[in-house]
Amino acid sequence: AKADGRNCSRVFEPSLGREIEARLGMSNKLRRALADNELYLVYQPQYSLVTHELTGLEALVRWRDGQGRLFMPGDFIPIAEQHGLIGRLGEYVLDMALAQLAAWRTQGVPLVAVSVNVAAQQFASGDFVGFVLDALRRHAIGPEWLELEITESSLVQNTIRTVSQLQTLRLHGIRIAIDDFGTGYSSLSYLDTYEIDRLKIDRSFVSELETRSSRAGIVRGVILLAKGLGYGVVAEGVETPGQLAILRESGCGYAQGYLLSKPVMPERAAELLRSPERP
Ligand code: C2E
Ligand code: CA
Ligand code: CA
Ligand code: CA
Repeated sequence: AKADGRNCSRVFEPSLGREIEARLGMSNKLRRALADNELYLVYQPQYSLVTHELTGLEALVRWRDGQGRLFMPGDFIPIAEQHGLIGRLGEYVLDMALAQLAAWRTQGVPLVAVSVNVAAQQFASGDFVGFVLDALRRHAIGPEWLELEITESSLVQNTIRTVSQLQTLRLHGIRIAIDDFGTGYSSLSYLDTYEIDRLKIDRSFVSELETRSSRAGIVRGVILLAKGLGYGVVAEGVETPGQLAILRESGCGYAQGYLLSKPVMPERAAELLRSPERP
């Protein structure tokens, strides 16, 4: 049900009641899914536009429930955020990603850094920094193999707590990337407020590179700006050879997208790591 915003008594309408019930059902299911290990990670390769090598993997969470139904992050991350489950989900994801790196290392698979998405709320409660450092220690993985992706909009919420945690993580050698750059209504002024490592240009800019020349101008500007600040640039959602060519000409360092590879299961990721042929 969509709220029409005019009638306060809507809250008592049965359709909305059912929606709340459905959400509660979903959050209880998700709680159980976390306990029953129904969540898993797929990995999307990132390639250097300079050397053409596979240089990183972004971990993306999936949920297959007991009946074999597949849920995408958009189906359950917002519910996890609203029902106080995002902290546990985030820790679970981080742990799985590091366990995967450790397993690959044991198998002799050449490693690259793994990028893990972090929700704003994960900084708000508990000891996020402590958890990350402890997880690295438990899996005996060096900090240089981990990049944390924080969305631009969660940085704009900019609590001192978030910023100081990011800086602490970075001092420990963990890389920090700003995700979905260009979508967060931010002012440019915050860009040199924290030390970060990479900017990820949002797919919405990449997808219009060939059709809106003003977009190509913006993207070129963002790349120059990032380089001036010493940040790497990753373009996400690259789907066409034309987009890739514009990005390369503009000096973008890294690209990720369906053109290069969809997110893949760990077994396939290991194959790609073993033979990092350029796509
Ligand atoms: P994101 O961080 O911007 O991740 C990129 C999303 O774009 C992924 O969708 C990916 O599959 C998709 N994508 C990649 N290349 C292309 C392309 O060329 N074309 C198109 N159309 N799409 C592409 P996914 O896996 O559904 O994830 C959606 C969002 O869910 C992510 O956006 C991220 O914000 C969030 N998310 C995913 N995993 C996690 C997680 O473990 N924790 C948290 N907090 N959020 C997560
Ligand atoms: Ca991301
Ligand atoms: Ca992104
Ligand atoms: Ca995005």
